[in-house]
Amino acid sequence: MRIAIIGGSTAGLATALRLQLSGHDVSVWERRAGAPTGGLGLLLTPSAGRGIERIGVDIGARAHPIEQCEILEGNGPTILSVPMEAAGVEREVLVDALSSHLQPGTLHSGSSFVDFETDERGHARAALFGDGTRVEADLFIGADGVRSRVRRRHVPGPPLAPVRTVELVGMCRGDRVPESMRGRFFKSIRPGEGIAVGLVPASDNSVIWYVQCDPGRWPQALLAMEERRRWLLSEVRRWPAVVEETICGSDLAGLHLWRTTDRDLPAGFHRTNVLLVGDAAHPLLTFTSQGTGSAIEDALAIGDILDDHGPAGADAMDRALREFARLRRPVLRRRLQMGRRMQREFLRPSRRFMPEVPVCA
Ligand SMILES: Cc1cc2nc3c(=O)[nH]c(=O)nc-3n(C[C@H](O)[C@H](O)[C@H](O)COP(=O)(O)OP(=O)(O)OC[C@H]3O[C@@H](n4cnc5c(N)ncnc54)[C@H](O)[C@@H]3O)c2cc1C
Repeated sequence: MRIAIIGGSTAGLATALRLQLSGHDVSVWERRAGAPTGGLGLLLTPSAGRGIERIGVDIGARAHPIEQCEILEGNGPTILSVPMEAAGVEREVLVDALSSHLQPGTLHSGSSFVDFETDERGHARAALFGDGTRVEADLFIGADGVRSRVRRRHVPGPPLAPVRTVELVGMCRGDRVPESMRGRFFKSIRPGEGIAVGLVPASDNSVIWYVQCDPGRWPQALLAMEERRRWLLSEVRRWPAVVEETICGSDLAGLHLWRTTDRDLPAGFHRTNVLLVGDAAHPLLTFTSQGTGSAIEDALAIGDILDDHGPAGADAMDRALREFARLRRPVLRRRLQMGRRMQREFLRPSRRFMPEVPVCA
C-alpha cells in the first residue's frame, strides 16, 4: 500500500519504520528543513523502550536508565522515594536513531502540509504541500503534533483543552552527570503554590530539567525571553541546591516554553482514508510522561492492524482504522485521566498533596 505520513518526529518516524517492516511503500513529509532541532529530552517508559526495539532500533547505550524516583517538598523533606523503571533520552538522539533506520529516500524535509485534495466521496486523493508538492497515496497518516493541521483540515473532533500548565524546559550538559543524580528522577514540588521542578538525566553527560507552573500564579514564566531567564535565575534560589546548580549550569539560550494541553478522546482517530497518530490524535498532559510511549504504541498498533486486515477498498480500510481506535482508546483514556488528575492536584491551592510517580504505565 502507498502510505504518506505527515510529520517526521517520533510518531511519524516510528510509524514509517513499522510500516516499512511490513513492506508498505511509505513516505514521510516533515515541515522542518534539515536535522531535527528543538526539543530537549524525554522519559521513556519500559513499554516505549520495547516498542522501539520491535521496530529494529537500539538506542540502549545512548539512553540513561532511571531506577529511582525521589520527590521532595520544596527543599525537603522527601515525600516519595520509590523504585522506578524508565530511561531518559535526548529527543534529538531518539529522532536521529529512528530516522537513520528508514529506507533511503523515505524522509522529505522542508515540506509543510497545507491541505488534501479529495474525491467526490471525501476520500483524500493527494496531500498538498506549501512548496507545491502533491503526494498521492492510499492511506494518509497525520503525525503532525499537538496543533495538527491534518486534524483541522480533515479529521474533526474535540478541540484542544485550554492550557492550564506551562513548562520551561532546559538542558544542562557537562562532562558527566553527578554521581548523586545518576539513575535518579528527581522532582521538587511546592504544594499549594502551583510550581514544581523536575530533573531527568538524559545521557551520561546531560540532564534535562523542567519548571512546571500554573501561569495564572506564575505569569513570569510567560515574560519575554530575557525577563523570563532573569526570573528563573532568581526563583531557583528557593529550590534544592541540585536544582539551582543544574539550572544555573545550563545554557539558558536554549530555554524552551512549552504550553501543555490535552484533548478529550474522539470516538475515532480517522475520517475516510486519513488517520491521526501521536500527539495529533491524542495530546496528553506531560504529568504522565507518556507522549512518546503512546506515539510508539500507535505505530505498532497500526502496523499490526494493517497486517491483519490488509485493507483493499474503502470499507476494509474503514474497518481497519476503526479497529485502531478500538484498541487504543482504553489505554489512552487511562493516561488522559491520570494526567488530568495529577494536573488538578498540582493546581490545587491546598498544601495537602498526594505525590504520584510521574509515569503512567
Ligand atoms: C520541538 C519539540 C520539542 C519537544 N520537546 C519535548 C521534550 O523536551 N520532552 C518531551 O517529553 N516531549 C517533547 N516534545 C513532545 C514529544 O516529542 C511528543 O509528545 C511525542 O514524541 C509524540 O510526538 P509526535 O510525533 O506525535 O509529535 P511531535 O513530536 O510534536 O512532532 C510533530 C512533527 O510534525 C511536524 N509538522 C507539524 N506540522 C506540520 C505540517 N503542516 N507539515 C509537515 N510537518 C508538520 C513537526 O515539525 C514535528 O516534527 C517535543 C515536541 C516538539 C515538536
